[in-house]
Amino acid sequence: MSKQTHAFQAEVKQILHLVTHSLYSNKEIFLRELVSNASDACDKLRYEALDHPELYEDAPNLEVRVFFDAEAKTLTIRDNGIGMSAEEAAAHLGTIAKSGTRDFMAKLSGDQKKDANLIGQFGVGFYSGFIVADRITVESRRAGLPADQAMRWSSEGTGEYELEAIARAERGTDVILHLRDEEAEFLSTWRLKAIISKYSDHISLPILMKQETWDAEAAKQVVTDEWETVNKAAALWARSKSEVTDAEYQDFYKQISYDSEPPLAYTHNRVEGRSEYTQLLYIPKKAPMDLWNRDKRGGVKLYVKRVFIMDDAEALMPAYLRFVKGVIDSADLPLNVSRELLQESRDVKAIREGSTKRVLGMLESLADSDSAEDKAKYADFWKEFGAVLKEGVGEDFANRERLSKLLRFASTHADEGVSLADYVARMKEGQEAIYVITADSLAAAKNSPQLEIFRKKGIEVLLLTDRVDEWLLSHLHEFEGRMLQSVAKGAVDLGQLQDEEEKKKAEEVAETFKPVLERLKEALKGRAKDVRVTTRLVDSPACVVVEEGDMSAHLARLLKQAGQ
Ligand code: ADP
Ligand code: MG
Repeated sequence: MSKQTHAFQAEVKQILHLVTHSLYSNKEIFLRELVSNASDACDKLRYEALDHPELYEDAPNLEVRVFFDAEAKTLTIRDNGIGMSAEEAAAHLGTIAKSGTRDFMAKLSGDQKKDANLIGQFGVGFYSGFIVADRITVESRRAGLPADQAMRWSSEGTGEYELEAIARAERGTDVILHLRDEEAEFLSTWRLKAIISKYSDHISLPILMKQETWDAEAAKQVVTDEWETVNKAAALWARSKSEVTDAEYQDFYKQISYDSEPPLAYTHNRVEGRSEYTQLLYIPKKAPMDLWNRDKRGGVKLYVKRVFIMDDAEALMPAYLRFVKGVIDSADLPLNVSRELLQESRDVKAIREGSTKRVLGMLESLADSDSAEDKAKYADFWKEFGAVLKEGVGEDFANRERLSKLLRFASTHADEGVSLADYVARMKEGQEAIYVITADSLAAAKNSPQLEIFRKKGIEVLLLTDRVDEWLLSHLHEFEGRMLQSVAKGAVDLGQLQDEEEKKKAEEVAETFKPVLERLKEALKGRAKDVRVTTRLVDSPACVVVEEGDMSAHLARLLKQAGQ
């Protein structure tokens, strides 16, 4: 085949134009894309070689090499993967077949500014090389084809590309970027290594670069001919559980979390079925400073087939689990997935549900464990993150029941660690409701006159003092069929807890006090809705309560503080 010039498909031209003009602020991603293509090519070879082992020829070790020529200003990404025939090059590097890219094209408005924003959300793959290169040459021989049937593809990334037959002994592909003059920063081992470790550390193939040494005579770093592996070359989470040691899990946590403490717990699973993904999730020991910022970036990194996609994929975890750190590696999502697509994706929804269940499962196994050590761990967890977990009761309807079992409170019985199940187990004969009181502090809750009758009768009351507790109560109405009732609201109905004699006495008292009540109502007109005789007080003469269904006095205070 002699050298032929071909025109790009019209869409490619548009993409190229947009890529080179609008992705500039994030140009280093070209290397991630090209390394990921190289890694894909090796995966494809591995797959085809399952049936045709001869495709490995005499080079069974799959790898990616990245090297540059500072004088010629070229940067090469070389792989010994499947390679491309001339027809494949024309099809893959001259037209656009990707559905994701087509969606993108369909959204193009022609308005430069809007489109520039759009393009950042789509992966741009091979064409992203043109952000930094004014010419890209691809030399490749497809595995299985003879050496004289290799090809060279070359383009300046404008309207057209050239294709010609060449001879090439090695199987696989060289993508050679002729860097623009102003992109000399990429002619640096240090810079390239940094980009590779940022985006491609967990590519499971070795990525090799030439070693550098200090040349004393020249007084500078010089590139040697020795190759070294610059990535970790093994995704920890892609290994099977039985092959990873606890120490390795701990190390990995440190790497991704920058936490100096080891994690409280972790879980590692490969999920198969409708949606296929691997999750490695950690619960930290200590809450970060910005835990209360609900817009805070999430701690779960998204990978697609071991290629790093994004750092803070909040769509992968509900907000109330924003303290969870780790990695999710999907086998289903496209590499060019955008944040917006993530929000809508059914695969992501399945991942989020599955991961939420895993985290709750991890917490349950600590909370319900027979071991004192695990129980203590759960108590620690609750101190750090309990208030955040409470948000889930209102937000995650599907898991409300599981979450309500994980809740812990102070009560008139114990200063901490009381679960709703503990409470229910201690309920008095005839007691129907779970009694709670909200207050600013534990001391204020304990000293509330509204507790007097409960104390006297030995009935436990949960003491809720977190800021989110009012909100929690507005979503948590019952637990195992028992209503949660605030002792500071309405007429506390002690129901079966009062014996006949007490009831009779209460009625008599109410009758006697009628004239007093009338005078008090008159005196408090416009300031109190009602004045009642109550059974809830033992020692104090009077207390203020709010109507059932009204805002509690405590919440009213909180809102006032917040300026509302
Ligand atoms: P994607 O990787 O999402 O398919 P790209 O634009 O990155 O999109 O690449 C387009 C296509 O070009 C790939 O699907 C593949 O067929 C081909 N290709 C790119 N780089 C290589 C390579 N190093 N080896 C073999 N084929 C490649
Ligand atoms: Mg690609």
